[in-house]
Amino acid sequence: MNRVIPTREERDAARKAKKLATCKHWNGALGPRPCAVGVDLVKRCGPRVQTGWLNAIPCLDGADPAFVCEAKVTPTLEDIEAQEQRFTEAAARTLSVMAAIPSEGQSGKVTCPGCGGFVHWRRSSYNGHLSATCVVGCVAFIQ
Ligand SMILES: [Zn+2]
Repeated sequence: MNRVIPTREERDAARKAKKLATCKHWNGALGPRPCAVGVDLVKRCGPRVQTGWLNAIPCLDGADPAFVCEAKVTPTLEDIEAQEQRFTEAAARTLSVMAAIPSEGQSGKVTCPGCGGFVHWRRSSYNGHLSATCVVGCVAFIQ
């Protein structure tokens, strides 16, 4: 079998197309409230464990939606690009803080690349996991 592997550009285009078709109110299938504005998807499409449920809900780009949702709002390309920009900036701040934290020690603080305030960090003496949080909220992670 000769399998064609999609290029990065093809994968990016497919990911953007999927985001453009996904309702802004969609919280994911596993959360207690899949629709942020309260559309009762279980009542209108059946139980979430049902095979094909993701194709039956109108929130995504499923093949066979059970109804047309009056509350569906999809993002614009600008919304998606702004979200990706925020994600890229957040990842850069996180990597910057990770690089600034010394490799030894149990806790301390480093300068936040987002606000210039402090990021408090702590290393678990049990398993070495590192956590850090900016007092303003620019950076927060557990490694
Ligand atoms: Zn900060």
